[in-house]
Amino acid sequence: MPRAWRAFLDPILVISATLPTYARADVAFERGEGAYLYDTNGRRYLDFAAGVAVVSLGHCHPHLVAALQHQAGTLWHTSNMYRIPLQEKLAQRLCDNSFADRAFFCNSGAEAVEAGLKMVRKYHDETGNPDRYRVITFAGAFHGRTLATISAGQQKKHLAGFEPAVDGFDQVPYGDLAATRAAITEQTAAILVEAIQGEGGARTAPPGFLKGLRAMCDEFGLLLFLDEVQTGMGRTGRLFAYEWEGITPDVMSVAKGLGGGFPIGACLATEKAAVGMTAGTHGSTFGGNPLAAAVGNAVLDVILADGFLDHVRRVAGTLSQRLASLPSEFPSVVAELRGAGLLLGLRCQVPNTAFADALRRGGLLVAGAGDNVVRLVPPLTVHDTHIDEAAAALERACRELAQ
Ligand SMILES: *Cc1c(COP(=O)(O)O)cnc(C)c1O
Repeated sequence: MPRAWRAFLDPILVISATLPTYARADVAFERGEGAYLYDTNGRRYLDFAAGVAVVSLGHCHPHLVAALQHQAGTLWHTSNMYRIPLQEKLAQRLCDNSFADRAFFCNSGAEAVEAGLKMVRKYHDETGNPDRYRVITFAGAFHGRTLATISAGQQKKHLAGFEPAVDGFDQVPYGDLAATRAAITEQTAAILVEAIQGEGGARTAPPGFLKGLRAMCDEFGLLLFLDEVQTGMGRTGRLFAYEWEGITPDVMSVAKGLGGGFPIGACLATEKAAVGMTAGTHGSTFGGNPLAAAVGNAVLDVILADGFLDHVRRVAGTLSQRLASLPSEFPSVVAELRGAGLLLGLRCQVPNTAFADALRRGGLLVAGAGDNVVRLVPPLTVHDTHIDEAAAALERACRELAQ
């Protein structure tokens, strides 16, 4: 490692010039390879946090590295003033493999949600109902950290000190169809929902919830807006989680896994929902530039290849089987296993931060989540040996904390 770098990471240099908005663990990584990260001391960790469900093909996947390197030597950025063939190709492939007819590209999950929120207002404005602007969201939701998306999420810890919130959001309990129906008014434009609440603690909705929301949207002329920023791109063993419920949304936000670690987000929509989004109504300087689109296409090459999602479903089954006994074996540490696919959560009896710290000391990286949950969101490329290794680390940490 170059000496200049080492100075930056010297533990004596505890004051960083970055805005201290993150409670960072005191570890920095130098290199990644597949499911493993190597810290600046050369120690290896099994990465079941994957940059919070972002690095879904593992670190430095050769196909992604090749695509990025090729594009880096060809063309990075031109702006959306011109046609961008790689962006059009990515849009077409996302539409061909989903409910959507149109894709708008941006750089993050929050921007993808924001684009969708603007779209649902514009749809009703365009179709003669400009008073319909309110969006129903669900307790425990997470949609990003912009003003509109913290207003949609309505979590006190995210809004505190940043009020007034953006107007137009009505919140009801997650999974509660009756409360949702009761919250619909003549001003309701859409229902915004996560197929599984990721940041909220890997919370799944009761079976039939999304179907019920779809039916309600059809009955009242609302748009169903799915936030699949975390659940999309193969995370649950299907390309998108809505496929499990046999429904389709009208609008959907995607990001995290879409770039495998390169920042890119997308808002997908039906032709009908996107009707008002004409030239000049929305935009992004960087969104879907050649570099991002090249990587997005490379991610799709891998996920859409024959057998890849079969692999995800199989390893997801193995991982949840291996974790299922933790609550009964270590009841003083783990209360519950939740989630689906490779978006699993262990609700803890000890502080989730203490559990995550113990796991990291034992060489396994996980992500925290709401509801005192430790989240396991490994790369979709993990194999049985990684799962064995993770299960062993989890048992060791449980044994340590149970004492
Ligand atoms: C992470 C996440 C977001 C926000 O994504 P950013 O890229 O951090 O803006 C939005 N919605 C869901 C469901 C997420 O998991």
